[in-house]
Amino acid sequence: MTYTFVTLFKNLVEGYFHDSILSRAIAKNILHVHYLNPRDYSDSKHSKVDDTAVGGGAGMVMNPQPLFDLLKDLKKSDENVHIIFLTPVAKPFRQNDAKRLALKSHIAFVSGRYEGIDERVIEEFADEVFSIGDYILTGGELASLVICDAISRNIEGVLGNSDSLSVESFETPLLEAPSFSKPQCYEQKSVPSEYLKGNHSRIRSLKLALSECKTQFFRPDQLLKHRTRKSYEK
Ligand code: SAM
Repeated sequence: MTYTFVTLFKNLVEGYFHDSILSRAIAKNILHVHYLNPRDYSDSKHSKVDDTAVGGGAGMVMNPQPLFDLLKDLKKSDENVHIIFLTPVAKPFRQNDAKRLALKSHIAFVSGRYEGIDERVIEEFADEVFSIGDYILTGGELASLVICDAISRNIEGVLGNSDSLSVESFETPLLEAPSFSKPQCYEQKSVPSEYLKGNHSRIRSLKLALSECKTQFFRPDQLLKHRTRKSYEK
């Protein structure tokens, strides 16, 4: 998988790939990461990439020319590139999107800054637009890293043990059951005794019950989805 980050602030993104799982995936040639800066494509004398909003309104907007030229070039270099814009004005990114996008060969993430990107750029080039939640960030870089990380876990070879994917939260509508590591008792707090008895079917039932409790408490919407799905299966 190749990722291209279209950003005015490469340094904000680059560091994330220096450590841990994604750096190992880069070393194994499973992931390739590139950066393109809209400023390098600006026709203006001072490499300007923003301008005041037409029709008024507070703040500056990323103007179309640098991004049009950059994205035309990018598409010329790889016609299969899948272009994603990060914006709060979009559907929320979900685990299913991460799994689906893991099958692409090249994804470009376009990060906005200021009050956002001229809408004509999005209309012309977006294959998809995503929000990462109902709040406003100062730029799209964190959002693109969140999405890139979630996609990468689903690419074959990126995780040491891909079995962990199948039991994670959102694999089904239920959130994952609580996990514990050794020691069995720490500061007088013991792990649930059933986890210690080695009866795998009873451990599975307990985990399911705990999973349902957690989901009911934190995400009743997901529990409803789980129950609806179960009733269809009957
Ligand atoms: N004026 C915009 C609005 O109200 O929708 C917000 C612009 S925000 C300050 C600047 C950039 O941050 C956006 O262009 C987008 O790339 C990114 N951004 C902010 N919040 C985001 C979110 N929840 N999800 C994805 N990207 C976000």
